[in-house]
Amino acid sequence: MIPEKVKEMFITFLKKNAHRITNERFLILDSALNIEGHFDADELYLKMKNEYLQVSRATVYNTLELMSDCKILTKHNFKGDRTRYETKVGRKPHYHIICINCNKIIEFEYPMIEKIQNKICKENNLEIVDHTFQVFAKCENAEKCDKKKQTNSSAIKE
Ligand SMILES: [Zn+2]
Ligand SMILES: [Zn+2]
Repeated sequence: MIPEKVKEMFITFLKKNAHRITNERFLILDSALNIEGHFDADELYLKMKNEYLQVSRATVYNTLELMSDCKILTKHNFKGDRTRYETKVGRKPHYHIICINCNKIIEFEYPMIEKIQNKICKENNLEIVDHTFQVFAKCENAEKCDKKKQTNSSAIKE
């Protein structure tokens, strides 16, 4: 189920930008909101295919872009990794530490980061439009760090 507020947000956005409103887009929106954590377009496409939902890969790709323009999703480009998305709805600002070997992602909240950003922007007469804060690291325990692991497929809810 797509929360009514989110559905309205998306419809308004699509209308305003002269994009077609199709059932396919809502199927994608619903599936994307049901994924916990970070996912890429192919992971979502495969998940939908496994659930026998009829969508084209191209539509999944461009609908995810639209959802990120509409601020329903946050789009991440973690170093050298594929574009990942995550739900913005109902989430507090948070930041990421990414293992450069196994792509494990640790999330954390730290309101002080927002305070510092606001302060520095204000001092320079700038208005924040968007922000990102990423830390790249390596797991200390090499045995638990699986270098071959490329995706975060465990994030997909069964
Ligand atoms: Zn996150
Ligand atoms: Zn690791």
